Amino acid sequence: MIRYVLLLTCLCTVHGEVGYFWHLSDMHYDPKYSLQANDNSCWKMRNNMDSEHMRLYKRLAGTFGSYGCDSPWALIESAAQAMREKHGKGIEFVLWTGDALSHAAGMSPELRLQCLKNLTDLLSHTFSEQFVFPVLGHEDIGLNFTLLANLWNHWLPEEALATFKNTGFYTIEQRTKNYWIIFLNTNLWLNVGSVIDNRVPQRSTNTATDNSNDPLGQWAWFQSVLDTARSKKETVYIVGHTAPGVDEREHGAGGLKEKHNTRYLQLVRQYADIIRGQFFGHWHSDTFRVVYSDIGSPVSWIMMAPSITPYQQGGPNNPGLRLYEFDKTSGQVLDYKQYYLNLPEANSFGRANWVMEYSLLKHYELKEITALSLHDLADRFTQSNDNAFVRYYAANTVSLPREVEEIWGCGGALNGACALQHYCSVTRLDPVSYSNCFQSYAFALASTSSPSAQIDLVILYQLLAILLTILRCR
Ligand SMILES: [Zn+2]
Ligand SMILES: [Zn+2]
Repeated sequence: MIRYVLLLTCLCTVHGEVGYFWHLSDMHYDPKYSLQANDNSCWKMRNNMDSEHMRLYKRLAGTFGSYGCDSPWALIESAAQAMREKHGKGIEFVLWTGDALSHAAGMSPELRLQCLKNLTDLLSHTFSEQFVFPVLGHEDIGLNFTLLANLWNHWLPEEALATFKNTGFYTIEQRTKNYWIIFLNTNLWLNVGSVIDNRVPQRSTNTATDNSNDPLGQWAWFQSVLDTARSKKETVYIVGHTAPGVDEREHGAGGLKEKHNTRYLQLVRQYADIIRGQFFGHWHSDTFRVVYSDIGSPVSWIMMAPSITPYQQGGPNNPGLRLYEFDKTSGQVLDYKQYYLNLPEANSFGRANWVMEYSLLKHYELKEITALSLHDLADRFTQSNDNAFVRYYAANTVSLPREVEEIWGCGGALNGACALQHYCSVTRLDPVSYSNCFQSYAFALASTSSPSAQIDLVILYQLLAILLTILRCR
């Protein structure tokens, strides 16, 4: 019944003028990137990888980067050029979801600020007529909010700057179009025991323990913006760096502190009727999440755009860029086009040829982007007669070459366990539910097979489907 109500609601939505926005994330600019093993911090950091893998990474590395390193300038510049060429004009805004700076150690605050200035200049030139809306990633530390506000004051209106200077979060009200964009500082909710607080001046450790339930009052502010939007009958997008839930490639690793993760999901359930989209980065992979109501109905969705950097601790990916298409009146997201760079090819040709990887609706044969349609898509991951998981998995690593993917991921064996890991991450956004989802299946699997038995894939999928049905009914 709920499904039909949701479907009718969607069918009754009147589409207005179509608009576009880019979403780029996790550039992780490394100004020290070099192909030489001795003078680059990233190669030194990877010395825990065995030599065979290092040889493979080095063979595929080049001017535009390496699967073992953060982004060189050439890669970032090529991404900016690609955005300008593919759709530089006629876009509404650009979402820039953080981690602009590199994982690589040993960058002074001065160098970090210079890197951020270079990136800001590049984006300002690329989008001279549009606003770029940044959020802070967990690597964007060592610079206080005021410095960052000064850097970005040509993009943010006065009220947004006033909030940002003290907290690192802000909101933009698109008054003529009846929607708001809420930009969160998810660093305040991270699962690290201390909260990253950019108010602390440079040269300090720039972390401050804040175990309060509402660091810098972000929860109270977040709820008040949602309340205001609802009272005005307006809709919202939520934009941040670290999303709730777990990393689908790191098998259950969470990003937000549990109490903040829980509170975020509660708030999304409470305001699902006005939330038109949630956009995050951080995991570097191409994936999505479905949020469910207390009675288990899909009520909201989260999209995670893949990173520009090819490097991620849990496994690399090709660089990606995303162009969203949306209804400018209702804020309804209509589709997106995912662009990517085949990194080894770019390095061997000496030219970065960004191309379209897929478009969401066509890739998964969806009719629309709703919580229900994405819930159904996740369900299809577990069905052996559907190739949805194969398609999702290729997109998840941004079409990573097989020889690299084999080191890290499902290794080409897209079996039930691998599909389950992704299914549980997409549909279970708190670590305990994720682990119950995954472990119930693993337990059943162990008890129905002899240790040496090779389990037939079809049986595996059938078993998986039964278990998921049981789990969902709980
Ligand atoms: Zn991050
Ligand atoms: Zn990142």
